[in-house]
Amino acid sequence: MRRPFIAGNWKMHKTIREAVDFAQHLIIVCGQSTERRVVLAPPFTTLSAVAEALRGSTIHLSAQNLHDKPAGAYTGEISAKMLVDTGCEYVIVGHSERRTLFGEKNDFINQKLKSSISFGLRPIFCIGETLKERDEGQTFAVVEEQIKEGLNNLSTDDITHTVIAYEPVWAIGTGRTAAPEQAQEAHAYIRDVMKKIYGEHISGNIAIIYGGSVNPDNISGLMAQPDIDGVLVGGASLDLESFIRIIQF
Ligand code: PEP
Repeated sequence: MRRPFIAGNWKMHKTIREAVDFAQHLIIVCGQSTERRVVLAPPFTTLSAVAEALRGSTIHLSAQNLHDKPAGAYTGEISAKMLVDTGCEYVIVGHSERRTLFGEKNDFINQKLKSSISFGLRPIFCIGETLKERDEGQTFAVVEEQIKEGLNNLSTDDITHTVIAYEPVWAIGTGRTAAPEQAQEAHAYIRDVMKKIYGEHISGNIAIIYGGSVNPDNISGLMAQPDIDGVLVGGASLDLESFIRIIQF
C-alpha cells in the first residue's frame, strides 16, 4: 500500500515570516499525521527557518532545485550538500519551469539526480509532455525518454527513495487539470516503464504523483486512480485552507 504523498511547491512566493507562519499553522492541523506524507517546498531563503518550524512534526522539507556540483564557482547556485545542511529531506528536480524557462535538459537533470541521491536527498523527479507533444501523440515517448535519460546509470538502490512527479506542462498553473483517467493512463505507462527498467519491486513501490492545477475540488477524483499516489501542488498550496483541504481529501 503506497501512502498518499502530498507536496506543496511554493515556487517564488513567501517571505520568511509568511513561510514560518504557514508551517506553524499547518503543524497544528496535520503535524503529527502519519497516514499521509506531507512535504513543503518553500523558496531557498526560507528553508532554514521552515526547517526549524517543522522540527518535531511529521511534515517534511523539500527544496525546489539544486545544482549538480557539490561546491565551486557557480554564482547563485545551491548544492545538495547545502540543502542537507538546511534540513531538507527532498528536492524537486527537473520541474517543467526549470526545463522551459532555464533550459534544463535531461542530461543535466540526470547529474542533479545523481548529486541529490549521493548526498542522501530524496528527489521528486518531474516529467511531463507539452501540449504540442500531447497533440502530436508523443506523450508516452516523451515521458519514457525523460525517465530513461533522467535516470541514466542510476541503480535500483539509488532510486529507492525517488518520487516521480508526472506533470503535463499544459496543466501547470493553467487551471486546466488532466482528467483523472488521462492522468491515470500516463501514470500506468510510467509505472510500466519503471517495471521494464527496475523490475516489479521498484515499480510496485515507487510513488508516482500527479501535478498540474490540483485543487480541493479535483483532488479526490485524481487520488481515486490506482496509479496516482499523491500530488505536487503549486498555486493551491500557497493558501493554508486550500492546502489543508487537499491534504485531507
Ligand atoms: C507545480 O508547480 O508543480 C504545479 C503543479 O503548479 P500548479 O499546481 O499551480 O499547476
